[in-house]
Amino acid sequence: MHKDVKEILFTDNQIIERCKELGAQISKDYKSKDKLVFIGLLKGSIPFLAELSKYIDLEVEFDYMDVSSYEGTESTGNVLVKKDLEGDIKGKNLLLIEDILDTGKTLYTVKAMLLEKGAASVTIVTMLNKQERREYPINAEYIGFEIPNVFVIGYGLDYDEKYRNLPYVGILKEEVYM
Ligand code: 5GP
Ligand code: MG
Ligand code: MG
Repeated sequence: MHKDVKEILFTDNQIIERCKELGAQISKDYKSKDKLVFIGLLKGSIPFLAELSKYIDLEVEFDYMDVSSYEGTESTGNVLVKKDLEGDIKGKNLLLIEDILDTGKTLYTVKAMLLEKGAASVTIVTMLNKQERREYPINAEYIGFEIPNVFVIGYGLDYDEKYRNLPYVGILKEEVYM
């Protein structure tokens, strides 16, 4: 275990097993839908997206977006698009893949943007969900794991751009960010 990790919450194997379950469920639920696009939110969703997509038995395209949220006065939240999608999403059924759903600001805003651009549907798939932190009216249709209000790293999740490569999700020691 990395020296900055206090506790491992989900191991590589647990995440893989959960991805198999989610992949089977999504494949079943979307069997009759076409024009599917997986939208990965950079950078944190990549390891989860890569694992999950192995178990998706559907014809699907991939596209990526990078956004960052900042403080503002708008009640809808302010999200800056740093890298936009490459493809046209009009009429497409999107599965928005995220590492973690926290206050909901990012996904609430991004979902609204994608619908505004003409997506037929937007479904949220998140590896982790911190339900008690929610401030925006948004929920994920598919959730890997529920977690309490702790700061986690690994499997895509960073602190100061580090730890994304850890093969597990763990709690960061407080002394690292205090
Ligand atoms: P939201 O917009 O839902 O408040 O925040 C979502 C983003 O905040 C995530 O995509 C992630 O980048 C960051 N975030 C929220 N909680 C955590 C956490 O526990 N660990 C890490 N590394 N990032 C987090
Ligand atoms: Mg993120
Ligand atoms: Mg981050």
